[in-house]
Amino acid sequence: MKRSPHHDYTSAASNPLKRHATFDATRKAIEAGTTTCERVTTEYLEAIEKGKRLNAFLSVFLQKSLERARAIDRKIAEGTAGKLAGMVVAIKDVLCVKDELVTCGSKILEDFVSLYDATTVARLQQEDAIVIGKTNLDEFAMGSSTENSAFGPVLNPVDETRVPGGSSGGSCVAVSAGMSHTALGTDTGGSIRQPAAFCGAVGLKPTYGRVSRYGLVALSSSFDQIGPFANSVADAARVLQVIAGRDECDSTSVDVPVPDYLSALTKNVKGMKIGIPKEAFGEGLNDEVRAAIEESIDSLREAGATIHEVELPHSEYNISTYYILMTAEASSNLARYDGARYGYRAASVKNLTDMYVRSRSEGFGPETKRRIMLGTYVLSSGYYEAYYRKAQKVRRLIQNDFFNAFKKVDCLLMPTAPTTAFGVGEKIDNPLQMYLSDIYTVSANLAGVPAISIPCGTDSKRLPIGVQVVGRHFDEETILKVADFLEKN
Ligand code: GLN
Repeated sequence: MKRSPHHDYTSAASNPLKRHATFDATRKAIEAGTTTCERVTTEYLEAIEKGKRLNAFLSVFLQKSLERARAIDRKIAEGTAGKLAGMVVAIKDVLCVKDELVTCGSKILEDFVSLYDATTVARLQQEDAIVIGKTNLDEFAMGSSTENSAFGPVLNPVDETRVPGGSSGGSCVAVSAGMSHTALGTDTGGSIRQPAAFCGAVGLKPTYGRVSRYGLVALSSSFDQIGPFANSVADAARVLQVIAGRDECDSTSVDVPVPDYLSALTKNVKGMKIGIPKEAFGEGLNDEVRAAIEESIDSLREAGATIHEVELPHSEYNISTYYILMTAEASSNLARYDGARYGYRAASVKNLTDMYVRSRSEGFGPETKRRIMLGTYVLSSGYYEAYYRKAQKVRRLIQNDFFNAFKKVDCLLMPTAPTTAFGVGEKIDNPLQMYLSDIYTVSANLAGVPAISIPCGTDSKRLPIGVQVVGRHFDEETILKVADFLEKN
């Protein structure tokens, strides 16, 4: 069997922006009869095995994925296969896959088995995607480095001394180290886009309400969105196409038409109005990241887009507003892990209170506990008005900033993260520094708007840099179009 070089994850280290196989390439090879779903799945399973020390996967569906691949090969032969036939996809371990573990990277759910498929997973499978396994993450998706997993940190395939970003680090590494074509992640405050930037992948956070969250273990329900990682903008568009749209099981999923995203990828940006938020280029932005973003701006200008400086005046409150609201929501969502209803229960407890206290103390890791305490504090009587209510009001102001900017421009362009990937262990003892790495990503979640990160170069250490395109509510088409242009220029 001829092996394709893109299945060697070590190539990420030698050339960080050399992307691995796209689904499009595989689809063509399957059509041409030069490969099969079974062979492709076998190659990916081998890549997962070979890249084990990156710790990207928490479970691998060895038998199941091969059986499915064979079944899909038969469907292809019969001419009945779905749109994603042969796409190998990895799933962040915070999404339910029926009869499989869903650990959320936490000891508290170590043995918990899903009773049903998340809507996103079901929709991918209906179109004949092959789910290869579940990926590692920061515990309950809280973090920016994937060091908070109860099952050990994930390493960045470009430089294994560095973090892959987080919290969807495992899904991002699966894609950027050639262990799957695409992956699902979740983005509550940047957890798809920031790892995509750190590893040189494409990462898309859809509009809040675009994709059903049914079967996603909730972190912060007013922020969480599911989206794809991919090695091309076109593949991200293909996944979005299938997972988007109203779902009766999630009342926050919105019934707006889902356009044909692939046909939006025209590469023609002439006449488009691109906004550059000046607040995203201030203090704290690494010079090499700035230079790479400026090059992206130049290439858009040269292709006939017009560039406009815009203001997002409340940007300085992004991080504090996000961390007040997300911890408040997380603290109430995580109240259900009490030793009685779900997951881990401490041994030989004395009484009910002892069971709650010990199960939660032993089951949750330090970052999760920190956030539960912060969230409980901002919701407690006496502080509710001062913190939670106030942050809700500021959230509206931040959202209005976006509405105002979008009166003048079609989309915004800015860095995804202030720096390239930082070292393993570098920020783990300094939560505030860690939170600051989300400075450019949380605003899209606060406003509910869609955003995509795509690679736009490397720094002097050859670490990937990501550029982010942010769009109007439900206008994923525009950001995909700009991202597709930037990917090819
Ligand atoms: N890094 C952010 C946080 O720690 C984002 C998390 C996420 O998007 N799931 O909250």
